[in-house]
Amino acid sequence: MTKKLLSTCLKKMDFLHCFDSFITPKEKRIFESLCICSLDELLYYFPYKYVSSKQVESIQDIKVVNSDDIISLPGRITNFRMLNSHSGNKRRSSIYLNADFYDKNGVKISVLWFKRIDKIKAAFKNKSTCVLKGVLKRKGDNYFFIHPRILNYGQAVTEKIIPCYPANTQARKCGFKDDWLQRIIVSFIKEKGVEDFIPSYILLKYKLLSREEALLKIHNPSNKDDIHQARRRLKFEELFLLQLKMLHGKAERECGRRGYVCMNKNLLERFYDECIDFTLTNSQREVIEEIYQDLISGKQMNRLLQGDVGSGKTVVAFASCLIALGSGYQCAIMAPTEVLAQQHFQKLHKYCERLGINIAFISSSVSVKERKKIFDGLLSGDVRMIVGTHSLLNDDAKFNSLGLVIIDEQHKFGVMQRAVFMEKHADVYPHMLLMTATPIPRTLALTLYGDYDISVIKEMPKNRKPIKTLHCYESHRLRLLNFVREKIDNHQQVYFVYPLIEESEKIDLKNAIEGYEALSRYFSDAHVGIIHGGMDAQAKEMEMQYFKKGFTQILVSTTVIEVGIDVPSATVMVIENAERFGLAQLHQLRGRVGRGDMESFCILVTGFNLTRKQKEKIRAMVNCNNGFEIANVDLKIRGSGNVFGEEQSGNMKLKIADINTDVPIIECARKEAQNILKQLDSYPKLKDKILNGLPVNLRNIG
Ligand code: ADP
Ligand code: MG
Repeated sequence: MTKKLLSTCLKKMDFLHCFDSFITPKEKRIFESLCICSLDELLYYFPYKYVSSKQVESIQDIKVVNSDDIISLPGRITNFRMLNSHSGNKRRSSIYLNADFYDKNGVKISVLWFKRIDKIKAAFKNKSTCVLKGVLKRKGDNYFFIHPRILNYGQAVTEKIIPCYPANTQARKCGFKDDWLQRIIVSFIKEKGVEDFIPSYILLKYKLLSREEALLKIHNPSNKDDIHQARRRLKFEELFLLQLKMLHGKAERECGRRGYVCMNKNLLERFYDECIDFTLTNSQREVIEEIYQDLISGKQMNRLLQGDVGSGKTVVAFASCLIALGSGYQCAIMAPTEVLAQQHFQKLHKYCERLGINIAFISSSVSVKERKKIFDGLLSGDVRMIVGTHSLLNDDAKFNSLGLVIIDEQHKFGVMQRAVFMEKHADVYPHMLLMTATPIPRTLALTLYGDYDISVIKEMPKNRKPIKTLHCYESHRLRLLNFVREKIDNHQQVYFVYPLIEESEKIDLKNAIEGYEALSRYFSDAHVGIIHGGMDAQAKEMEMQYFKKGFTQILVSTTVIEVGIDVPSATVMVIENAERFGLAQLHQLRGRVGRGDMESFCILVTGFNLTRKQKEKIRAMVNCNNGFEIANVDLKIRGSGNVFGEEQSGNMKLKIADINTDVPIIECARKEAQNILKQLDSYPKLKDKILNGLPVNLRNIG
């Protein structure tokens, strides 16, 4: 393909389509299999690593052996011989060519060629000195060159840095080569140029490369510093755009989006006086006040409430509802699982009865007839408050005057699901309160939730005793069982949780059921219950009630009970195969105990064979009870991409910046984004990028 044709087609965004007549079907398939469908995607298809190609005089000059760098080494070659390899018990044996190569100090390197043996032998017919170019490997005291290229002695080798691009096997099958992609990208940039959209005063201030320089250097660096400078600029760009987009979304909302004014606190006061027998923590009070300020502001609230497991978010949520309800609006609380929604409902139902509020429950287990009644009630306004699962998102769930939506464990929901509530409004959007017990470190929260206001419940209710976390090896099971025996004899209750990982769901479930059977046999005089995802909602709910009321002493479960279950007399959480759970999940599970005033335990059972990461995970759990610290360790072990689990990773994939390590860049980028927000109109290219660029974050829909 000629350069000219290339650039004409690259100009257009839908370039794969316009490429059709210029590139071979094979090349087109390469682009497709790499998911490169736009010009931006091509330019921002970054190398994942670089190897350097360098010339050395002798082995001594090489600092790191066994790297992927390409070495050119002059020397003398002798002693060619053909060898036979018998690989294991395979009948096929292959012939290869072996020779000895000596550098100028006489260090020996064994050279091997498997293909084109005759040609290679011919190349060495009349000479013994040459330069070999390839990847040098070392095993013990022996050096190897596998299939090196042969250059003439004295031939100058240009030192360069070669980018390596990520490519799947499909692309490789179609003939993908690193230098092929590099050539296409670099020739495009050189010929067409690339516009910058970051204002030059910012580039100057932080000594950042222009966009064109950065893109050229990341794809075609001359040295390590080029790579560093290019990455710095591109990271800044990514974080700057991301945060500017969020701040812009937030500003739009704040100035443009009206919200219902809710200022009546009568119901809330009655709740404090009549319904709860504890005093709120200072943190809870502060957060309720922050929410109150939002609710009276006349603007729509979009707030994320963070609080460790057991910090008492539900009370805060309900208090917010009471302000909205007292002011004449309906409220909805959505939870990710049936069990959790039920639990909220039962607790709130008691309060609502006392306060004279009509509350309803909805989930897929509610009959069609009942459901219709509830939906009618929502539309007429008879039902003031509703608690439920995804069923709340049903098209038929229409409200009379929905004022506040609360989403518990928000990370379990997709973006689109949250957005649905926005369509249930009349002409004013309901206030939104998202709650999460997955603690997010501050920088991460600012970056990922820049378009939300954030409240944090910082302290735990006073009556809580810290939970003791112990690591128990499989082989100490007898001791564990004796410990459990002691607890249930003392009228306390115990959870046994088994992992349920999708790939091996069947085996996992079998484990849980076998565990249940073994425990039932061992504790033959106690009642053991089981609850898992395969059971229908009613059966699960019944088991849950048995446990809550104390009919069962031991509850075996898969991770269904992960979020939000509240049984104060449960004091022991045994987690089987603890190494298979994520850190955040372990912490959540641990939060199921320690809810009353008795001393509580979390026991992590594992085998002996643990990887380094698994050991780190267990150690973090044993040493640390604080969700925020756990989140930081988790971030270190897993990287930021995983903080929210799979569901969210598609939401927010950073291409080049790393939220964990690029904190200083995040902070500069955020500062500049804040500064420029008000004058965005003076920077049309930037504004265009913010408004029309691909949606970095769909959460802005709300
Ligand atoms: P989470 O933040 O994990 O959702 P919950 O809202 O379920 O926590 O609260 C856990 C338990 O603590 C509940 O039983 C709740 O009634 C109780 N609780 C909440 N706030 C307080 C408080 N200030 N003092 C004592 N107990 C509280
Ligand atoms: Mg909760």
